[in-house]
Formats: sequence, structure tokens, C-alpha cells
Amino acid sequence: SRQFTRPLNDLSNQFNTLLSAVAGAERVFEILDEEEEEKDEKEAVGLASVEGRVSFDNVSFSYETGSNTIKNVSFQVNNGETVALVGPTGAGKTTIINLLSRFYEPDSGRILVDGQDTRNVTRASLRKNMGFVLQDSFLFEGSILENIRYGRLEATNAEVEEAAKLANAHSFIMKLPHAYDTVLNQDGGGISQGQRQLLSIARALLADPKILILDEATSSIDTITELKIQEALQRLMEGRTSFVIAHRLGTIRKADQILVLREGRIIERGTHESLMREEGFYYGLFNRQHAEGHLTG
Ligand code: ADP
Repeated sequence: SRQFTRPLNDLSNQFNTLLSAVAGAERVFEILDEEEEEKDEKEAVGLASVEGRVSFDNVSFSYETGSNTIKNVSFQVNNGETVALVGPTGAGKTTIINLLSRFYEPDSGRILVDGQDTRNVTRASLRKNMGFVLQDSFLFEGSILENIRYGRLEATNAEVEEAAKLANAHSFIMKLPHAYDTVLNQDGGGISQGQRQLLSIARALLADPKILILDEATSSIDTITELKIQEALQRLMEGRTSFVIAHRLGTIRKADQILVLREGRIIERGTHESLMREEGFYYGLFNRQHAEGHLTG
């Protein structure tokens, strides 16, 4: 199964280490912010209020000198739209997300959020407008309450609980011996992978970002939890611009735009219906894989 790439993994490892050393998520956030400020351009400003329009304008990028990982990628996404990134493993889906989140900078081309070149804004203000729900959900050693509250540190207990309810997480949390005070440890603290996803959805709901990054699980999750995840994701995605590294055909079919990537290029784009009519690469991918209920990559 695929993993989210290094930058985010590094970050979550950092959380675990730091959190065992210092008390509370608040301090961790400060430490990360301090480290980040140094890397911003001198003239960088805070991103103004965000509606969620995103565009890539002829973006190219390579991790090391040599062949380009991302080649001349351009696309536009309107507020509230869902974009499915589809393509074989190694096609560049995660790299596009890493560029949008500015874990890396394009070698050429521009990435705009609401018309603002993201290179000129602080990383902290950009990421404040972005929410992540990843396969390897981003939980740290601390209570469930703290883990959800990480989405918005000033949220009250009642607001955390409200987010957990919307994320279909409240009922399983209440069945745990220590409910919201249950401490999650490296081994998961006795909750399943699907339940961890519900917690990260609750956190994202609390954070209320305009731009969402979703990396769909490929590993099997029991049917009931899977339905809860799908329902919670629907609520979360409503009214937000969502980028989905998509594996489930249900998600891909519903997307406003599908970007089909191959070897770092967008080779096809459109809706499920229009791509099926084209009978190109996507059509082939779909026909080979729809029996399994998912697309690989
Ligand atoms: P996908 O998400 O579609 O599977 P990725 O964006 O993860 O594809 O990878 C695109 C290409 O970039 C692959 O060839 C991959 O090996 C390479 N790659 C990904 N992350 C890194 C990295 N941190 N350093 C160097 N190469 C990388």
C-alpha cells in the first residue's frame, strides 16, 4: 500500500518526538511555526481570506537534478470543487500535493490560491487554510480530545465534541473506557485504522479550512466504518475545494474534474463520463480495474 511522502511523514514523526518531550500540541505548533518562518521569503505576507480557488500555471518540478517529476502541469479549480488525481504509482499525484502545500517549490511555473502566487505568502498562513486527511492519519501521543483540538487550538470541549459528532466519531469515542481522555500511543491506543481516520476528519472539520487534501485508504476497513468515513467525508467536503488522491471509483465518479497523470504529465482530464467517452488511458485503467472496485496508484 502507498504511503504519504516524506515531508508529511517527517512532520508526524516530529510530533511524536516533540510531544513526548514537551507538554501539549500548542508548544509543538509554536516550534514548527518558528522553524518555518525562517524559510519564507522576506516579503512574504499572510494569505488573505481564502475562498479556495487553486491554479497550477505551467508547473515543473524535479526532486533532484535530472528528469522532471512534474512536467508543465496546468489546471484550474473553482471554489468548492472536487478534483480527483488519478494515475499509476509514481505518476506524480503526491508530488502535486506536496507542491500545493509548499513542502517543495516548483522549479518553474506558478501555483496560485485565489489568484495569489503562493510563493509570496507565508507557509503558515497557507497551511492554515488547508486540511489534511491522510491514510497515515497524523495522530500524536496525547488524548483524543487533544488530537481533535489540534485542528483549532482555541476550540472549546463542546466544539471538539460537535466536530466529533459530525465526523461520526463521537459514538465510538464514548464507548472507550476513558472517552475523550483516552490516550493514543504509537500503537494506536486500541482504536482501529478506520477510527483514526474519523478522528482526523473531526480535526479537519474543527479546523474548517477552505482547501482539503484527502488521501483515500487502500487498505481494507470494515464496511460499517467505511460507510461512516464516506458520510463524514461528504460533510467535510461540502463547500470546500478538495484534492483527492483517489482510489475508490465512487469518489472518482463524483469528482468535478479528474486529472489523469502519467509520468508527471496530465495526459487526460475531464469528468468520469467524458473520459470514458474518450476511450483513452483512463478508460483502459477503468476497464482493467473496475472489477476490483478501485484504481491503483
Ligand atoms: P504518486 O503519488 O502518483 O504515486 P509521487 O508523486 O509519489 O507519485 O512520485 C512521483 C515520482 O517522484 C516517483 O518517481 C517517485 O519515485 C519520485 N519521488 C517521490 N518522492 C520523492 C522524494 N522525496 N525524493 C525523490 N524522489 C521522489
